[in-house]
Amino acid sequence: MSTPAEIANLLSESMEGGVELPPNPVEEFLRSDRMPHIWCPGCGIGTTVNCFARALLQSKLDLNKVAVVSGIGCSGRVAGYVKLDSFHTTHGRAIPFATGLKLANPDLTVVVYSGDGDLAAIGGNHFIHAARRNVDLKVILLNNFIYGMTGGQVGPTTPGTAMTTTTPYGCFEEPFNLPHLAEACGAVYVARWTAFHVRQIAHSMGEALRKKGFTFIEILSPCPTLYSRRNRLGDGLDMMQYYRESSEIRHGANTKDVAITYQGPIVVGKFVDIERPTFLENMNRQVARTLDTQYVGVGEDYVRS
Ligand code: SF4
Ligand code: MG
Repeated sequence: MSTPAEIANLLSESMEGGVELPPNPVEEFLRSDRMPHIWCPGCGIGTTVNCFARALLQSKLDLNKVAVVSGIGCSGRVAGYVKLDSFHTTHGRAIPFATGLKLANPDLTVVVYSGDGDLAAIGGNHFIHAARRNVDLKVILLNNFIYGMTGGQVGPTTPGTAMTTTTPYGCFEEPFNLPHLAEACGAVYVARWTAFHVRQIAHSMGEALRKKGFTFIEILSPCPTLYSRRNRLGDGLDMMQYYRESSEIRHGANTKDVAITYQGPIVVGKFVDIERPTFLENMNRQVARTLDTQYVGVGEDYVRS
C-alpha cells in the first residue's frame, strides 16, 4: 500500500501530466464536475458515500430508477454529489419529499440520505410516521452527534455531558436511541454501524436496497471540526480508533439496550429484519375492497386478489 507521501507525490506528478492515475472505481456513480466536495478532512460522510456507491453498483439495480433525497446539513450534500436523480430538500423535509416521490412513482427505489439533526429533530415527526406507515424508503442517517453545518449546536443525538456550541457546560438532555425509535415506530429493517465498518455498511445498504418497506441504517460518523475538537477527542482518525475499540457487533440485539453514552461502548449490527405490508400494499388492498373492479391499483407489483 502507498504511504500518504507517495500518494501526494503521485497526485502532484499527475497534475503536472507525468503520471496516469488509476481510475476511481466508483467514478461512474459520482458527479465529478462537482468536486472537490465541501466536507472537512477527517469527516466520515465521504466514507459512507463510497460504501453506498459500492452497494448500489453491486445491487445491479437500474440506476435510472434510483433516486436520492437529502435534507439540509453536511450529510444533506450527498444528493448533490451522486450521479443519480437526486433532490436536496429543505431542512427536515427529506422524508415527506421522498414519500411523495415513491407514491407518485412506486417503481423507483427511493433513498433518503441525511443527518441526525435533519431527520431526528426537525424531521422527527416525518420520520416516525413514515416508519409507522411502512413507506418503502431506504433511510440512511449519519449521526455525528450534533448539528454540523449550522455551527455545532446540541441535537437530539448528542450524548449526555458532551460539549457543543449551545451546551458550553455539557449536554444534559437524554439523547434518542435511534434504532429503538425506528423499531418502535414500525421499521422493518434496522441496523447501526460506524464509519469504521465499511464492509458492513455496504452489506447493510445492499440488504436495505433489496428490502421492501421502511428500512433504517444509522451510521456514526466523525465530525472532527465541530464535535471532536470541542470535546478534545482528536481528529477523524482518533474517532475511528474510538469506533474500532468501543464497538461490539451484536446482531439481533434488543434495541432497548443499544443506547449510546458519551465515549461509551457502541453496539452495532443488524437489529431488526421483519416483514410487514407496506403503505402501498395496504392502500391497494383496502381501496380495492371498497371500489372492487373500478380500482386499477398503484405500482407494478399490484395484483388484484
Ligand atoms: Fe463533516 Fe463536521 Fe466538517 Fe460537516 S462540519 S463536513 S460533519 S467534519
Ligand atoms: Mg448531525
